[in-house]
Parts: sequence; C-alpha cells; structure tokens
Amino acid sequence: ALDSTAYPLSFALTPSTTARAEAERDEILADPGFGKHFTDHMVTIDWTVDQGWHDARVTPYGPLQLDPASSVLHYGQEIFEGLKAYRHADGSVWTFRPEKNAERMQRSAARLALPQLSVEDFVQSIKQMIAVDGDWVPSAPETSLYLRPFMIANESFLGVRAAHRVGYYVIASPAGAYFADGVAPVKIWLSTDYSRAGRGGTGAAKCGGNYAASLLPQMQAYDNGCAQVLFLDGETGTHIDELGGMNVFFVHGTDRLVTPRLTGSILEGVTRDSIMQLARDRGMTVEEREVTVDEWRDGIASGEITEVFACGTAAVVTPIGQLKGKGFEIGDADAPAGEITLALRQELTDIQYGRLPDRHGWLT
Ligand code: PMP
Repeated sequence: ALDSTAYPLSFALTPSTTARAEAERDEILADPGFGKHFTDHMVTIDWTVDQGWHDARVTPYGPLQLDPASSVLHYGQEIFEGLKAYRHADGSVWTFRPEKNAERMQRSAARLALPQLSVEDFVQSIKQMIAVDGDWVPSAPETSLYLRPFMIANESFLGVRAAHRVGYYVIASPAGAYFADGVAPVKIWLSTDYSRAGRGGTGAAKCGGNYAASLLPQMQAYDNGCAQVLFLDGETGTHIDELGGMNVFFVHGTDRLVTPRLTGSILEGVTRDSIMQLARDRGMTVEEREVTVDEWRDGIASGEITEVFACGTAAVVTPIGQLKGKGFEIGDADAPAGEITLALRQELTDIQYGRLPDRHGWLT
C-alpha cells in the first residue's frame, strides 16, 4: 500500500474567483521577503489505503479543513520539500532538478511510513502550479518562486500507527533576493547541547519534527550573534553533520572540496550534489568523508582550509566567516567571502537563471 501510483494522475482545475489583480501582485513581487505571501492556487492529491493516490486537483489557495484528531497534529507524521522556479531573461520559467526533490520526498515518505508519490506525479504537480500561477514568478535578480510540496497524515484516529488517509499539497510563495546587499559571510553557532539526528533516526528525511527540534538550538545561535546552528553527529559528537537547513563545505587550498559524507543523519541536499558536480567539472577533487571540529580549527590555523561555506535551496551558497562555540571561535568573522565560494555560487545561479548553458540537463 506504500507504493507509488502506477499511472500518471490527471489534475482537475478550479480557477480562483478571487485571484489578486496584476497591480496587487506586482506590489507583492516588488518586495516579497520570504514565505510571507502565497499565490492564488494550490495543489491537492488525496491518498487512502484503499484507493491509493486520487483526486489530483488545482484549487484556489485556502485553509485546509482538518479533523482535530488528524494524526499529523498528534504524532507529526509529515514530510515536505522545497524547490524554486526561476524566471529567465526571455520570460520563460524553469525549475532546478525537481526530480531530485521528488526522489528525496520518496525517501522521506519511506522513513515516515507515508505513501510514495511517483516522480512523474510530483513533477507534474509542480508544473500544474507554474501553469496556473506562473505570473507569480518574480523577475528581479536573484528572486524566485519558492515551491513547498508537503504531505500529512490526515486520518482521524488517535492510535499510533501509519495513517490510512494522507494528503499531498503544493503551495508557492514568491521569494526575494537572499543577499540583497551582496553575499556576506555569516557566523554560525556550534551546538554541543543538542543534536538534530541520531543513529537510525530521521536526520536524512525532510520531516517537520527535525525542524521543530532545531528551533531551540537555533535560538541559542541567535543569542550568540550567529545566523545558523551547526550540528555534530548525534552518536559521538565529534564530527560535523550539517547546519539546521544547509549542508557544509570546506575548500582546501585551491583545488580540493571536502564535505561530510552521508551517514543517514544528514539531509542529502540537491544544492550539495550540484556543487560537487560543478567542482568536479572545474577539475577540483571532491571528498565526502568525516570532518571534525579539530580539523576545522587546525586547518584554518595552518592555512590548509581556505574557505568554508554552506549551501541549500534558500540561500544557494553562503560563505561562513566564523564558527563560534562555548568559549571558542574559529575563523575571522570579518574576512571577505572566498573566491571559490563566490565562483561556485555564481556558476550555479547562472545555470539556474539561464545565463549559462544547462550542460547537465538540470532545468525543467
Ligand atoms: N540540510 C537541511 C537540514 C535542510 O533543511 C536543507 C534544505 N532542504 C538542506 C540541507 C539543503 O538541501 P537543498 O540543497 O536540497 O535545499
């Protein structure tokens, strides 16, 4: 019953009768921020044990009606994805490697005992959103339409077991430029009080609970003047896993890129995979392996580690100036962003925005 559908779904459209007028939309798109405004429509697909996926539809954006006993509200059986649509200079709209998000959502679904949606249906759901709300993709530099697919257990049942009724949804939200005043290095906080994942846990899944658990350490990061939290592995607490919402990379010298290997507790970022490919294309050596905080400290001290950066869909590539922890600091918070960091960032965004040829076939 957890299988993906064996046939492509067809989507029924109910157009919104209260869609925002062009002037109102343009006003929002002029300064969208992040995650504050939503487009006029949404996608819904229902799933039941008996029927599998059915009733795929595009409807006006609006509140979900949930029974208070819906299991997602009690046991957090929920997963989500995040990807962006980019407007090219010729007006066309493109998403970046959406099949990677589809596959990751399938892996998340498997871990959370949710049904899998086929890659084809996932990509189709994204295309449906763009078809109906494509005018919401902004065109200013570094702006995009952020797409948020998610899946929840909506069976009314308080027993603790995998739900027999599930909903898949897609909503979309215009996103402004992350670094409006130029790409600036950030400070990050090393969390030693909390970890985000343990052996056999849900670290490799994109499920809501992981993010709920990251909020308290994230508050500690803010209290310490840092933008994000860095988590260590939950088992030994010696090597680096990832940030609360981004993967992390180290540049060694000028030609070597190092990133923590996927251990089951790290989220496999689409940006991470793409950055590794672009680095290899440049002739850099890419290593996926364990990285300790000691290696970071010693590497900065000796000059072996020349740049550190984080990457993810939201901010693309963010230089890390400094790692702060209880009683120590590694790196110079005021140093400018590294050359290789900025070059990889530029190349990736050039591909996403159609300024460079899509040589890997990443755009849909
Ligand atoms: N790690 C975590 C915990 C994340 O939430 C994200 C954002 N999805 C990433 C890494 C980066 O993944 P991606 O490059 O696919 O956005």
